[in-house]
Amino acid sequence: MVLAGGKTLIDNGRIVLFPPSEVADPDLVVFLGRPLAVDRRDGTARRAADLVLMAVSEDQGAELAAAAPTGASWAGFREVAAGLDALDAGAFLEALAIVNWHRTHTHCPRCGAATIIEAGGWVRKCPVDASEHFPRTDPAIIVAVVGKDDRILLGGGSTWGSNRYSTLAGFVEPGESLEQAVIREVGEEVGVRLHSPTYLGSQPWPFPASLMLGFTARTEDEVPTPDGVEVVRARWFSREELQAAVLSGEVVISPRVSIARALIENWFGGTIEDAPSGEQFTEPGSAVGQGAGETAASAAAGGSAGGK
Ligand SMILES: [Zn+2]
Repeated sequence: MVLAGGKTLIDNGRIVLFPPSEVADPDLVVFLGRPLAVDRRDGTARRAADLVLMAVSEDQGAELAAAAPTGASWAGFREVAAGLDALDAGAFLEALAIVNWHRTHTHCPRCGAATIIEAGGWVRKCPVDASEHFPRTDPAIIVAVVGKDDRILLGGGSTWGSNRYSTLAGFVEPGESLEQAVIREVGEEVGVRLHSPTYLGSQPWPFPASLMLGFTARTEDEVPTPDGVEVVRARWFSREELQAAVLSGEVVISPRVSIARALIENWFGGTIEDAPSGEQFTEPGSAVGQGAGETAASAAAGGSAGGK
């Protein structure tokens, strides 16, 4: 599997694979493992061979594209996620996560020496003090806030279009439980006090390194107060109001590949139909399209200290 600039080659809904010998001089090589997933489309285990990731420059990527099947093209995860099977989606996320880590962890945090890649790309070791450094994942909570009358509270981020709404989110702080993070984040972002946080599920979101931990929680407060920084608007929706607003295009919610959408639809009790125009929840400069406050946090590959 080849990665260039966060994209891989996709042909007909599948990741294009090359024999390793055909990829000359990669920047980074990581052993991704031996896939066990079963292809849901035909029920067979496919690609039972070892899967190796090779990260290449965009120039090298262009050469490889010429050697790929006609019709193959470079694509980012969010562009193609909805059409990938579990095996390819998992491989793509794993590849993005491990490459992001290597790109940003080149030197020893203790002594500053350049580290050496070991263990098939899953450890970086310092040649000076022998310390070992492992890939990191940043836990972030994402919450469907449910209030009186069973309405849901959604928020909009400061960098988003004014019709974008999603669940609230933010990074877990050191020394904090997930439940504490849920209550603190929502309190900070929209000023409502939560109770009964309940864990529902998780989603890796390596843009650049998040693991989204999905919760639902309740509040008795009725008036949200957006912090004006990470969250600039917040609004209650009944199920009927949300479906009507999405269908008319008045409101755009997170895309179906996101845990944010899954949390909203878990509350909704089914699938929320998108507007026929198909307007997408995409934001320039945002790496996420997930939760409201989490956008600043997770988009901050090299910037904003949001998500606090
Ligand atoms: Zn060191």
